[in-house]
Amino acid sequence: MLEEIVKKNYQKGLRECTNEEIYQSLMEMVKGLAEKRVKKEPEKRKLYYISAEFLIGRLMINNLINLGIYDEIKHQLEENGKSLSEIEELEIEPSLGNGGLGRLAACFLDSIASLGLQGDGIGLNYHYGLFKQEFVDNQQTELSNPWIENSNWLIRRENSYDVPCKGFTMKSQLYDIAVTGYDNRVNHLHLFDLDSIDESIVKVGISFDKEDIQRNLTLFLYPDDSDKNGELLRIYQQYFMVCNAAQLIMEECRERGSNLYDLFEYAVIQINDTHPTLIIPELIHRLMKEGIGLEEAITIVSKICVYTNHTILAEALEKWPLSYLKKVVPHLVPIIKILDEKVRDRYKDSHTYIIDSKRRVHMAHIDIHYCYSVNGVAHLHTEILKTNELEAFFRIYPEKFNNKTNGITFRRWLLSCNEPLTEFINGQIGDKYLKDAFELENLLNLKGNVPVLEELLEIKQKSKTALKDYLYKAQGIELNDQSIYDIQIKRLHEYKRQQMNALYIIYKYLEIKKGARPERPITIIFGAKAAPAYILAKDIIHLILCLQELIQNDSEVSPYLKVVMVENYNVTLAEKLIPACDVSEQISLASKEASGTGNMKLMLNGAVTLGTLDGANVEIAQLVGMENIYIFGESSEKVMKHYKKKDYIAKDYYEKDKKIKELVDFIVSDKLLAIGQEENLKRLHRELIEKDWFMTLLDLNEYIEVKEQVFKSYENRISWARKMLVNISKAGYFSSDRTISEYNEDIWQLQM
Ligand SMILES: *Cc1c(COP(=O)(O)O)cnc(C)c1O
Repeated sequence: MLEEIVKKNYQKGLRECTNEEIYQSLMEMVKGLAEKRVKKEPEKRKLYYISAEFLIGRLMINNLINLGIYDEIKHQLEENGKSLSEIEELEIEPSLGNGGLGRLAACFLDSIASLGLQGDGIGLNYHYGLFKQEFVDNQQTELSNPWIENSNWLIRRENSYDVPCKGFTMKSQLYDIAVTGYDNRVNHLHLFDLDSIDESIVKVGISFDKEDIQRNLTLFLYPDDSDKNGELLRIYQQYFMVCNAAQLIMEECRERGSNLYDLFEYAVIQINDTHPTLIIPELIHRLMKEGIGLEEAITIVSKICVYTNHTILAEALEKWPLSYLKKVVPHLVPIIKILDEKVRDRYKDSHTYIIDSKRRVHMAHIDIHYCYSVNGVAHLHTEILKTNELEAFFRIYPEKFNNKTNGITFRRWLLSCNEPLTEFINGQIGDKYLKDAFELENLLNLKGNVPVLEELLEIKQKSKTALKDYLYKAQGIELNDQSIYDIQIKRLHEYKRQQMNALYIIYKYLEIKKGARPERPITIIFGAKAAPAYILAKDIIHLILCLQELIQNDSEVSPYLKVVMVENYNVTLAEKLIPACDVSEQISLASKEASGTGNMKLMLNGAVTLGTLDGANVEIAQLVGMENIYIFGESSEKVMKHYKKKDYIAKDYYEKDKKIKELVDFIVSDKLLAIGQEENLKRLHRELIEKDWFMTLLDLNEYIEVKEQVFKSYENRISWARKMLVNISKAGYFSSDRTISEYNEDIWQLQM
C-alpha cells in the first residue's frame, strides 16, 4: 500500500525516494487507515476530554504500532534500503503542552481509544505551541517553534462556530488529529483555530502584540506550568476553547438523539484542571438560549461536568478578576454571579464562595460546586485535598471526592521508545501484558535468575550507548556510557528542587577536588524548560549550566563527574533519555508534586528512583518495597506543619551547618562568578538563604547521604539489576489503561 502511494505521488519506487518523500507518503497512508477505523455508528454516551494542553509528541511510530503495521512497514523500508528510525527523525513534535498535565491528557487519549471507549479530546491548535529553548551564554533563550508544516497530522473539517466576545465575534475553524487505539478504535483530538491568525506578527523570539486577539489568539501556548499570570489573552483562549466545545458537543449530542434536557445521558465532560472551567457557565447560557430554564440548565450541566485537580500550589490556582471576565465575556458574568449566590445561600462558609471579597472568581470553586466528581491524581494528593486545601468542600460534598492515580501509556513509553526492553519482556513472559499491564508481575519469577538479570543490564547498557550517540549527533554532547546516568527531567520549578541536585553537584565537585574520587564516573543529566517570566527558575538553569562548564574544563574533576543539561527538553528527547536512565531523580518537596508521571516512565524502563515521599512516589515505594527504591526527606505532614507554623528558617540551616554554608556559598564563589552572571548567581544565593520557600536546605544533607548510598549500591550489579527488574514488574499499576478504566467505572460510565 505504501508502494502505491509513493508511486502515485512521485512516479517512482520506494528505493528511489528520499526520506522526506517516504515520510509524507507514510503520513498520508496512516491518516487514511486511521479514518477508515473511525466507527460509523456512534454510541449514545460520549466522553469529551477538554484540556488547554495535549502534549502528544511525534505521532508516526505510535500510529504504526497502534494500527498494527509497525513491523511490516519497518521491514518493507529495510528491504528498500531505508531506515524507519531515520525517517521518524523528520517529524517535528507539536509542543501543545507544558509538561506533565499536557502529557497526561495525551496518554489518556491513547488509553481511551485503546480500551475501545468513545471519547474525544478538545483543545486549541497553537501554531507555535510552547517555545523552543536554546542556551546562549549559559542562559535560557526562547524561540518560536513552528510545527505545522506542509504535511502534518491535522485534518481540516467543515465545523466552524461563532465565538462572541465583547465588541467582536470570532469565527473558528476545526482541525482534527486521529487518535489511534492500540488494536482498537480510532477517536479524535479536536483542535480549534482561527483562520485570521497572523504568524507574521511574531517579532523576535516569542514576542508579539498581545492586544490583537483576532490575529494572535492561537499563536502560542501559555508557557507557564504551575505559575499563572493574569493576562487577558489567556481568558480569551480559554473562552474560545470552551465556547467551541459547547457548540460541538451540543451539535453532536443532538445528532445522536438528545433533546438537550437529557444531555447528561449523551455527554460527560472531563475538565482537565481549571483552564476549561468556563464551559460550565457557557453551557448553562446556551441551554437557556434553547429555552431551558435557569435552574434546570444548572442541574443538567452539573450532571455532565467532572473536574480533575492537578495542583495544590496556591499560586497556580486560577483566580480571574471579575473585571477581566466582564471585559471578555460579559454575557457569562450574570450566570457566574448566580452560581455564586446559590453557594452563598446554601453554605455560609466564605472559603467556598466563587467570588471572593476582592471580586476575584475562583475557577476551581465553580468546578467543585457544579461538577458531580472531583478527583485528585495520586493517593497522597487526594488525601491532602480532602484534609487541607479543599477541606471546606470535602465537608459539604464528601461523595464527590475520589482519587485517580495518574498513569502513562505503555505504547509510547515502552513499546515505541524502548524496543530492546520490549523484546526482552516479550521473550520472558509473552505479550499478554500489552492488554493487561499487571501481567508484568510475572517478571518477578526471574528475580533469582542471574543470566536474565545480566541480560537486563546489557539492555540498559545498549540504551545508554544509544543515548550517547544520539546526544552527540543532535547536540554535540559527549557522554561516557560507562558512567552512571543520573537523570532529572521535568519542568524547571523551585518545588521540584533542581537546585538541590545542583548543590549535590557542588558537593561532589568539592569532594573530588579533595581527592575523594567516586568508584565509577557519574553523569548527572538535566532536561528542563523554565517559564520565560520565572526569574528564579532561569537562575537555576544558569547555575546548572555554569557548573557544567566549570566541571567540563577542570581536568581534575571531569573524568569522574559530568553535568549535562540537554537543550529543549520535550517528548522526543524524553523518549531517548528515559530508556537510558539508571537513577531517576524525583526529589520534590513532600506534599508539592501532585503525582508526577516522569517517575512512572522511568520506573517502567528500569530506572531506580531516588525520591521523596511525594505524589505517586508514595505508591511506587509501596509497590516495589523499600529495598528497591531510595527514599529521603521530611514527610509531607511535617512539611505542611512547617508551613502552618511558619517555622522553617533557611538561614538557620545555612548558619548552623558549615557544610551547607560551604555548598550554598559556592554559588557566589570566584570560580562560578568567573563563568556566570553575578546578578543571577547572587539572586539565587540570596534566595536560598533568605527564603527557600521549597525547603531545599531542610532535606539537603539527607539527600546527599542517600545519593551516595545509591551510587555505592549501583556497584553490586546483580543486586542492582534485581531492583530494576522489580521496578519494571511493578509498573503495571501505572499503565494509563488502569487509570482510564477507573475513570470509566467510577465517573464516566461509557459503554465498553
Ligand atoms: C512526562 C513528561 C513530563 C512530566 O514529568 P514530571 O517529572 O512528572 O514532572 C514533562 N515533560 C515531558 C516532555 C514529559 O514527557
